[in-house]
Amino acid sequence: MDSTFRRTPDIHLQDLIDGLSQGNRVFLSKAITLVESKRADDRKLSAELIDKITGTGNKSLRIGITGVPGVGKSTFIEAFGKMLTSKGKKVAVLSIDPSSNRTRGSILGDKTRMDELSRDPNAFIRPSASGSSLGGVASSTRETILICEAAGFEIIIVETVGVGQSETVVKDMVDYFLLLMLAGGGDELQGIKRGIMEMADHILINKSDGNNLEAAKKAKKEYANAVHLFPPNEADWTVPVGLCSAIEKTGIEESWSEIEKYETQTKSNGWFDENRKRQLIKWFHERLHARLEEDFYAQQNIKAEIKKREELISSQKLSVRKAVDELFSI
Ligand code: GDP
Repeated sequence: MDSTFRRTPDIHLQDLIDGLSQGNRVFLSKAITLVESKRADDRKLSAELIDKITGTGNKSLRIGITGVPGVGKSTFIEAFGKMLTSKGKKVAVLSIDPSSNRTRGSILGDKTRMDELSRDPNAFIRPSASGSSLGGVASSTRETILICEAAGFEIIIVETVGVGQSETVVKDMVDYFLLLMLAGGGDELQGIKRGIMEMADHILINKSDGNNLEAAKKAKKEYANAVHLFPPNEADWTVPVGLCSAIEKTGIEESWSEIEKYETQTKSNGWFDENRKRQLIKWFHERLHARLEEDFYAQQNIKAEIKKREELISSQKLSVRKAVDELFSI
């Protein structure tokens, strides 16, 4: 059924849209597979789909979650997601993974880690799209967000898997950015760069349980002091520093209250909409740049022409500027 669907050239766009608006999971998965596809006919259809659903899911809240591997992201998302579905919310969990060569095995591993949530009828967990570039993965994740919203998901959680540049990428596609930390990480902030802390709308110290609780309380004070010194953010939001235990399920409700507070505040001061507008414009330019690059390198013989000029440039027989000009006038 699935492969027939994928290979039929005249998939009815309207069927997909109708299926999505009814919250049909089969159509939801098909639509996501479609936007992740690199086949030319799939691309055309997915562009039409995205165009049609743009603006249909504006009532959602997009939450980014980051933190070093092992901090407890999966465990936290499971507890947080279950808390939200128990309130009747529909929750989608997506992930951004900069290492594109992850095996399917580890993706399934993630699924089992969010075991309860993955069996919840009000939750949808989608493993990371694979792709050759972080930009490509980011773009299809953005489209996946729109698809989930069109299918009626109200809370979209985007998790970063691993560390690297994915934090910035996720920050650019969410309304709220939650950073999970551990107590006792020392001065180097456990590999979390200061820049990432500055991006956060919320810092939560996970594993605040058992013997770790005292250290967590101390860390909370330190992080609260550090946050105090950061430049004010555009949302005019005081970044909360909280404690939680994803395993004991403490601090989960409190973190949701903070998020609701943020949503109310930024919707009334205009930042929520402004941020989404800026994100769209940024996405547009990123996509435009990617397209220009793709089209340029897709020209016939361009690789050979570039190679030829590399030699001339390195032996200083040709200037860099002239070489570039020449490539644009071939
Ligand atoms: P991720 O790599 O950030 O997704 O982290 P995981 O959710 O896989 O958690 C890594 C390990 O930390 C697992 O063994 C979890 O059981 C454990 N863990 C996660 N949250 C907590 C917590 O709140 N308290 C304690 N004590 N352990 C936790």
